[in-house]
Amino acid sequence: MTFDNSYARLPKHFYARVEPASVPAPVLLAFNDDLAGTLGIGELAKDDDALAAVFGGNRVPAGAEPIALAYAGHQFGQFVPQLGDGRAVLLGEVVDTGNTRHDVQLKGSGRTPFSRGGDGRSSIGPVVREYLLSEAMHALGVPTTRALAAVCTGQKVYRDEALPGGVLTRVAASHIRIGTFEYFAARGDVAGLKTLADYAIARHYPELADDDRPYAAFFSAVLAAQARLVAHWMDIGFIHGVMNTDNTAISGETLDYGPCAFMDEFHANKVFSSIDHGGRYAYANQPRILQWNLARLAECLLLLDNDQRRFETELVELSGRYEALYLARMRRKLGFTTEGRGDSAMVRDWLRHLQKHELDYTLSFRELADRIDAGDAARFGAFETEWKRRIATQDESADQTRTRMNSVNPLFIPRNHQIERAIQGAIDGDLRIFHELREVLSRPFETQAHKAEYAKPPLPGERVTQTFCGT
Ligand code: AMP
Ligand code: MG
Repeated sequence: MTFDNSYARLPKHFYARVEPASVPAPVLLAFNDDLAGTLGIGELAKDDDALAAVFGGNRVPAGAEPIALAYAGHQFGQFVPQLGDGRAVLLGEVVDTGNTRHDVQLKGSGRTPFSRGGDGRSSIGPVVREYLLSEAMHALGVPTTRALAAVCTGQKVYRDEALPGGVLTRVAASHIRIGTFEYFAARGDVAGLKTLADYAIARHYPELADDDRPYAAFFSAVLAAQARLVAHWMDIGFIHGVMNTDNTAISGETLDYGPCAFMDEFHANKVFSSIDHGGRYAYANQPRILQWNLARLAECLLLLDNDQRRFETELVELSGRYEALYLARMRRKLGFTTEGRGDSAMVRDWLRHLQKHELDYTLSFRELADRIDAGDAARFGAFETEWKRRIATQDESADQTRTRMNSVNPLFIPRNHQIERAIQGAIDGDLRIFHELREVLSRPFETQAHKAEYAKPPLPGERVTQTFCGT
């Protein structure tokens, strides 16, 4: 791996230098050859033991400069002035063949100065979870951090019980969060804040460096990227679960797969996270929470550009912008090629129908596509009749519409009950389901022979209604 560690060249108080902890018996569980190829490190993939040594934390590769990043954040609305990488180290940055820079981070690699009371470790459950979820999101076309490797450490981690330990290697456009800005703002460290903002602009939005108002323009860019991201989450029925400001990446990638989940049956107020008692991060709240989080970023950036009106206007206009992005996505999902006045109302009717009848969010779009040339409206009732009338106005064959709908409506999503099975298998030393899910979820829009089982919603006895951070 050829590293170029720009973050480690920032001022010393941006991070702490820390070596990943050694582990007794690292075993490679998974390596992402595809991603390794993109990173230009495909050569690495030949020796599993070497990969386990590097991505388990025992061998720091030449050129890496491991650091734990400092950040703060609002957790469930409460400000915590110091969080930071408590169980992760950034090995360094790799610039890929297309000249894009990526962070390569070990997660679960031992204590750091930011660990507070934690052990800095991860059990194998969250590793399997993040691996499957983040790669599934990537295959669905959602901006996200990725998983390069999963290693079992051979060391027990103690949660409610003793569990096998694991390390996930995460690849990200960067690990700069809204909470990173809050870290400096809360300390009144305007110089540090400016250094961070200039760095973030150069790294993620270089075209803004020459803007008259670079920090306000940066805010607009982050807002736009995050609005697109959350609209995409809503499109696929994804609930992040912990949309704290420290889990909101300024790159616009999905960051931190904790108690996240995809919905099975549709419900607007769905919550899975065991720690989200008030439903703050419920499915339908995500756009509002995004606005709240961006307001926290605006407060930081005001220290660099005091044009309060501009920040406020953008925040107010966000809801309209988000709605437009969301509606455009829903039109595509419903197979509309044009914009109709009644589309918003139709989307509402559709979701109301799904919720009332507790229908599966994901599969219902696929089933709807199959209803195009059905003579009756037996499946989706009054909505279906209305929808067919709308579809009939489009100059397209039923097959064309169906193909288009199926290209944007996935058949396979990482369903909670399957993820839980993969985790339980991994804990018991059986990786079959993990690997099968990796394969199935890499082609979410295609029907796959003998894999129909993975498309199905859970049976009543299989339902998983709660998800956990597992940290
Ligand atoms: P997260 O829930 O991943 O967003 O993490 C929130 C904060 O808790 C971050 O600062 C993490 O580094 C820290 N944290 C979570 N789990 C652990 C752990 N096992 N050991 C140390 N710090 C942790
Ligand atoms: Mg986090």
